[in-house]
Amino acid sequence: MSDLQKEFNIYTKDIITASRDENIERAITRAVKSYRQTTAETLERYPHTPELAAEVREIKKISIANQQTLLKQAMESVERNKGRAFYAKDKQEALELAAKIIGTGKTIVKGKSMLGEELSLREYLEEKGNEVWETDLGEFILQLNKERPMHILSPSVHVPRERVAEIFSKFFAKEVPPDIAQEVAEVRDFMREKYFKADVGISGANVVAADTGAMVIIENEGNVRLATGAPPVHIVLVGIEKIVPTFQDAMKVTEVTWRYAQYGVPGYVNIISGPSKTGDIEKVTTYGAHGPKEFNVIFVDNGRSEMARENEFKAALHCLRCGGCMYECPVFQITAGHFGHIYMSGIGTVWTAFVAGGMDKAAPLAFTCLRCGRCVERCPMQINVPAMVQKLREKIVNG
Ligand code: SF4
Repeated sequence: MSDLQKEFNIYTKDIITASRDENIERAITRAVKSYRQTTAETLERYPHTPELAAEVREIKKISIANQQTLLKQAMESVERNKGRAFYAKDKQEALELAAKIIGTGKTIVKGKSMLGEELSLREYLEEKGNEVWETDLGEFILQLNKERPMHILSPSVHVPRERVAEIFSKFFAKEVPPDIAQEVAEVRDFMREKYFKADVGISGANVVAADTGAMVIIENEGNVRLATGAPPVHIVLVGIEKIVPTFQDAMKVTEVTWRYAQYGVPGYVNIISGPSKTGDIEKVTTYGAHGPKEFNVIFVDNGRSEMARENEFKAALHCLRCGGCMYECPVFQITAGHFGHIYMSGIGTVWTAFVAGGMDKAAPLAFTCLRCGRCVERCPMQINVPAMVQKLREKIVNG
């Protein structure tokens, strides 16, 4: 049996099991209802959003066409801000760079990042003898339950409150009721000291402005603020497709991203461009005030430049990771992220092919996609995923 046939067999069993899972059905039904309702209300309240999305499509087009120039500019900006900028051409290089900065025996607090999943970052750093804590609530649930994310934005979307209560009761060794407010409070108490004891904070970034070296990170929980603000060292790992020319562009991308991720406005928008500093004593700039003294950015390629060179697939790099398409995908609605390999659903199929496992992993996904086009209707970037999936199928069949 070929490797590809084995992939198909494993995947088929997994997706059939997922489609019969009552927890997935219950949780996704609630999530889809909530997403549709909130997004409709949000778009009605902020009617300029589709127009802004059209502007962002142009920004992303220009950015991907000038990816290498912008990468150079962004790296120079980070260095100018007294940060350290690194370029990783692939997964191994990215992991080694992070491990070299961190060392071993450290405590790390980490924000949610799909790139982190792509790199298996937490697992790698744990193997190197570090203690790593996922600070995003959804990621924390999955860390405890030894599971992978089932949605790019809401990683534990498939886990209903009743199951969360079971997982937390076991971990905290006490009865935690299936009450969401109490579940959240337990994690808050547990995580608080981790932030201040941690040696290193790791985050991703939603968008990077090349002109200023500013990293923009959208969040609601406040965990990213603490994870990137409290420890003495901050490392950002970010894909090179996230770089846009200017700070103004970055703000536009940010607003469109959160709006289609169902937020009128998110709880927090973090803008980080260098180590913390003060000039309050004699106007002498001193690094390492209340926030991190060290600021490192690892720009990760790992197949993104190759994707940018492929005319039929480069628009997939415009994806903002708002997650909207997944709620509209009929396959995702009954299988959650089991229709995926690291990246999920139709758009995830393309990403899997180029950056997260290659054609063998993408093939079963390409033949699962119904090519119904509902994702395109929802997508603020109007990415033509069904056409890309068709091209992938042709590549798989023709070799
Ligand atoms: S493909 Fe479009 S809708 Fe889906 S996550 Fe990316 S930007 Fe959002």
